[in-house]
Amino acid sequence: MKSNKNYSLDTRCVHSGIEDNEVGAVVTPIYQTSTFKFKDVDHGARLFKGEEQGYIYTRMRNPTVEACEMAVASLEGGAKALGCGSGMAATNLLLATLLNAGDHVVCSESVYGPTSTLLSTVYSRFGIKTSFVDTSDLEAIKNAINDKTKLIFIETPGNPTLVMSDIQAIADIAKPKGIKVAVDNTFMSPILQRPFELGADYIIHSMTKFLNGHGDVVAGMVVVKNEEEYPTFRKVLNHIGGVIDPFNSFLVHRGIKTLKIRMERHNENAMKIAEFLENHPKVDWVRFPGLKSHPQYEIGQKQMSGPGGMISFELKGGLDAGKILMNNVEVWQLAVSLGGVESLIQHPASMTHAIMPKEQREKAQITDGLVRLSVGIEDVDELIEGLNAGLDKI
Ligand SMILES: *Cc1c(COP(=O)(O)O)cnc(C)c1O
Repeated sequence: MKSNKNYSLDTRCVHSGIEDNEVGAVVTPIYQTSTFKFKDVDHGARLFKGEEQGYIYTRMRNPTVEACEMAVASLEGGAKALGCGSGMAATNLLLATLLNAGDHVVCSESVYGPTSTLLSTVYSRFGIKTSFVDTSDLEAIKNAINDKTKLIFIETPGNPTLVMSDIQAIADIAKPKGIKVAVDNTFMSPILQRPFELGADYIIHSMTKFLNGHGDVVAGMVVVKNEEEYPTFRKVLNHIGGVIDPFNSFLVHRGIKTLKIRMERHNENAMKIAEFLENHPKVDWVRFPGLKSHPQYEIGQKQMSGPGGMISFELKGGLDAGKILMNNVEVWQLAVSLGGVESLIQHPASMTHAIMPKEQREKAQITDGLVRLSVGIEDVDELIEGLNAGLDKI
């Protein structure tokens, strides 16, 4: 597929990133090689000087990696993408490329745990300050911005509380001040949320989750909207390392082919499960972007084309009841991570967000009894039965 831009997302999922190759392979082959031969010394020198395009060394460029990068850039509608060894490597690449000592960041308080920790314990050592705010509250963002603010980093829906932030409204606040906006789009994927069309400058993905979708890869991606900014990102990635490898690129690219139909099934299954939970007598509250009870339901309706597969809820019996549930469910697996074909259940306060200080967790409404579900693509009635196996024991 030569120019991807005009095709639907369905077609782009299947074809984007796959270019003609020497042998006519229908799928981009795995170039499992660390290095590439030069034709002669002058050729090598020309490649290093950038006078000629070609492959030198896999940390810098690799055809299988590029195919996956092109696919994700095409799906997001960005100029270029940079494949990273994990979602956190992608976040690190973004921060390392954009920030200088003395800069200030505004970050969603309900955010993937290690993102918060990276900013507050690593980047803080290099003189970069971060304000963690409720980014669903535009006034809170305006109040947090100062003349050093360089970046607003939002995760929406946020992990694990599913708080939603208005990407367009935030971009409108940031633009006139010259502040860049990055969106962690992991929970929605390019199928359900289109941050560039809403004014964002950069998109982060943990491809470990929905993009790969099969629970067998750890990988990440930075997508850059503007072509001019790309060379700087590439240079930084070359020097900090942390690139994705050819085999994982192949697996993610393979996973992307079914992304659209998987997201449709995640939406449907999660909607039914969220409704089931909301009507269950042992459940205190449910947070799901598709439920009218969600405090930012309207924002979700405006900027997302589906609710996604993530649900958070709290049982009336709090953490003790949650433990009984998690230890007795069937079909569901007790594991962190998300976005795969298999349904997972976990407890953020003791698992994914245990590293966050308790007061920061409480401020972000990550209560001790909160249970998080990643709804897979199994039979939804069997998923509900599987939850009932645990709920009945409470
Ligand atoms: C998992 C996740 C990350 C980090 O990705 P890794 O691939 O585990 O490094 C970042 N953001 C969100 C929203 C995630 O769910």
